[in-house]
Amino acid sequence: MRIVADTDLCIGAGQCVLTEPEVFDQDDDGTVVVLVENPEGGQVDSAREAVKLCPAVALSLQE
Ligand code: SF4
Repeated sequence: MRIVADTDLCIGAGQCVLTEPEVFDQDDDGTVVVLVENPEGGQVDSAREAVKLCPAVALSLQE
């Protein structure tokens, strides 16, 4: 599974970072930074949750 982030859509809401801080971070502008592109183990479920919660639909998954 691979996480894809569309930084043009990201509004810096930070839901992804709150949901899984080991996988997502934000740069100085608040735009999402994907720390772990290919999550494994317990990070998979929380990455899926973060994708669902993103209010800007800026995150997607490639299975
Ligand atoms: S939750 Fe979505 S809009 Fe908010 S920082 Fe993460 S990717 Fe960006």
